[in-house]
Amino acid sequence: MEEHERAPELPAGRFVEVALKLPLKTTFTYRLPAALDARPGSRVRVPFRGKEMGGIVTALRDDCGAVPPAKVRGVTAVLDAEIALPDSLLQLAERMALDYGCSLGEALDAMLPAAAKQRGVRRLPHLELAIPPDDAVTLADELEEKSAGERARVLRAVLEWGGPMPTLQLQRDTGTSDSPWKTLVKHGALKRVLIAEESEPLEPDVREGAARHDLNEHQQAAVELVGQAVAERRHETFLLHGVTGSGKTEVYLRILELVRARDRAGIVLVPEISLTPQTVGRFASRFPDVAVLHSGLTQGERARQWQRLFRGEARVAIGARSALFAPLRDVGLIVIDEEHESSFKQDSTPRYHAREVAIARAELEHACVVLGSATPTLESYGRAKRGVYRLIELPERAGAGRQPKVIVEDLRKESREQTIEGVTISRTLQTLIHERLRARDQVILFLNRRGYSPVLVCPSCGSAVQCEHCEVSMTWHATRGRLVCHYCQNEKRRPEVCGHCEHPRMHELGAGTERVEVAVRRMFPDAIVARMDADTMRRRGAHERVLGAFRRRQIDVLIGTQMIAKGLDFPDVTLVGVISADTGLFVPDFRAAERTFQLLYQVAGRAGRGDKPGTVVIQTLAPENYAVRAAAAIDYHEFVRQELGFRRVTGYPPFSRLVRVLFEARREAEAKAAAVALRRELQGLADAESLGPAPAILARIKDRFRLHLLVKAFTPDAFGAVMERLRDVEDRSTHALRVTLDVDPLALM
Ligand code: ADP
Ligand code: ZN
Repeated sequence: MEEHERAPELPAGRFVEVALKLPLKTTFTYRLPAALDARPGSRVRVPFRGKEMGGIVTALRDDCGAVPPAKVRGVTAVLDAEIALPDSLLQLAERMALDYGCSLGEALDAMLPAAAKQRGVRRLPHLELAIPPDDAVTLADELEEKSAGERARVLRAVLEWGGPMPTLQLQRDTGTSDSPWKTLVKHGALKRVLIAEESEPLEPDVREGAARHDLNEHQQAAVELVGQAVAERRHETFLLHGVTGSGKTEVYLRILELVRARDRAGIVLVPEISLTPQTVGRFASRFPDVAVLHSGLTQGERARQWQRLFRGEARVAIGARSALFAPLRDVGLIVIDEEHESSFKQDSTPRYHAREVAIARAELEHACVVLGSATPTLESYGRAKRGVYRLIELPERAGAGRQPKVIVEDLRKESREQTIEGVTISRTLQTLIHERLRARDQVILFLNRRGYSPVLVCPSCGSAVQCEHCEVSMTWHATRGRLVCHYCQNEKRRPEVCGHCEHPRMHELGAGTERVEVAVRRMFPDAIVARMDADTMRRRGAHERVLGAFRRRQIDVLIGTQMIAKGLDFPDVTLVGVISADTGLFVPDFRAAERTFQLLYQVAGRAGRGDKPGTVVIQTLAPENYAVRAAAAIDYHEFVRQELGFRRVTGYPPFSRLVRVLFEARREAEAKAAAVALRRELQGLADAESLGPAPAILARIKDRFRLHLLVKAFTPDAFGAVMERLRDVEDRSTHALRVTLDVDPLALM
């Protein structure tokens, strides 16, 4: 038997309040049978409207209030009575429900992993081919002819996987429900197999962190400032603005040492992308009691890590967004590294931002929050300027690294002969790549767009191949030989002739990473080239494999999307080429410039991190754009100065807080009517402004029309009043209409 903390004595009445994982803003009373043991924060199963439901106990009580006792139903099961959320997290959930307009049950569910307690090895459903691959290819084509597109897609995905494919991943990758694969199983094309879940924890690479640097004066000052607040058990939020390579990690480590010396716990959040053995290693080498939480873990491993934290065996949690809910007691420090990263915002209910929730948790625990970034969001920088956060600057690179030299290449001036395979690589960039390859240095080439080309267009009539379910063009993936919609995963064969004018050949317009890879292999046949994007990184462990090979210098040129733009520290990378700076610049979103600046600045920061100087080449059609110019000058303050000017005039964050309500329906009129009605109700709010309803940037996805309403609240009171009216707006969803509330939205797509 394992030893566990004892649950507190249960009151005689033995009733419990349970929050269900439903968008219902109330809790429900159940009777707790004598044989069961539960406490606030326990996960239970209860009967609800004729079904069994999961829920979390929010309180024990000895009566059942106004409900006649005979009518109160019993809890069916308590899942692991000894596992429960700590009080601080129960309180935090209430706060989240209020701030984001979700139910308490939804907030609590985000905190407690479904399998907090896991015994033995689980066997997971997979699907594999039950017919020879050649037959599967033929069948997939036939299915597509018969407009059974989803089944064709599923079959092809399993084919491409080349072995048993996890069923959940299959559904996610193909954007399908379980009905297509079930039909394929029924018809004998696929078969189901159960495969034991491999428990493959993220092994920290402890060699990484061995060096303990003497702090430079800026780092020293930062550690002292935060250290003082920690010593006083004072809640405060710091914005650590440090240029790339300024040694922010060393600062986090030193503060964490101070926190641990007082036996308080720490949480370190990093973006999923930079959650590499390298990052984990830096922390694990200094602290023996680190637990790692991230979405790549198997459920069993996740449960094990969660329990180590819950039992106090691990006192430092490092992980992606959800590690914020690590079941630690007496947290003294929460670090959010790369605070500008959009992955800190959850894009499903509850749509919380880790930064806001971290601050709320830290307030409850009298802890400090350190937000670190070389390119803080305008929201955070604005708050630091207003004194809501304390600003700490690390203006110089630590150690040997110097800022790279940046060259901006005006693509309008490049002659056509530099275009190979449809990819323009300027003379300068080509020469530099050659040089670096000769010197056996490493090169990173960045383009934030995957696939071969984003558009197939008819050179005669100019029409492009569009997804029939979405209002977007389909991306050509040459390796797979398919056109793919990046929004609904719908795919199809490349049309032989133009669908409009029957011109005999469609033309690939523009380039994605796949095309860059082809071009680079052609231009530099002796170089070892690897590509890192969502298409090549689907398998578990693929990240670690490629980055490991790159670190061991088994790769000369690494091509990738934003996945390679951030957080990576490779001393032998002396050249970074941005194939196009413009992929996100002209998106109709008020954050387009900010995102472009951040990406360019971050990707430039990958060059020259060792003792060798680095060079960055940025190719662009808009060299005069202020975001491009500020990134080329590696000048955050200059960018912020200009951008704040625009934001002030337009009243966007940080000069307001935004709330977005999205209406989606198959009939456009339906979405519109609901949006117009809400708009009318929002009239007359002081210090707030409603925009729309207007079509979302993606006006139709999966056959649903999408309209949104944006509300800007200019004062905290106005924000409160807006939320008062909007908190329950999702309850207007019907079978035909989906209403989504998003507080502080990042995506306006
Ligand atoms: P950032 O996260 O700010 O981009 P890192 O924490 O990755 O920067 O640090 C950049 C490099 O500088 C790392 O290789 C790190 O080991 C080194 N470094 C950090 N602090 C110092 C220091 N005080 N002296 C020398 N080197 C340092
Ligand atoms: Zn689509």
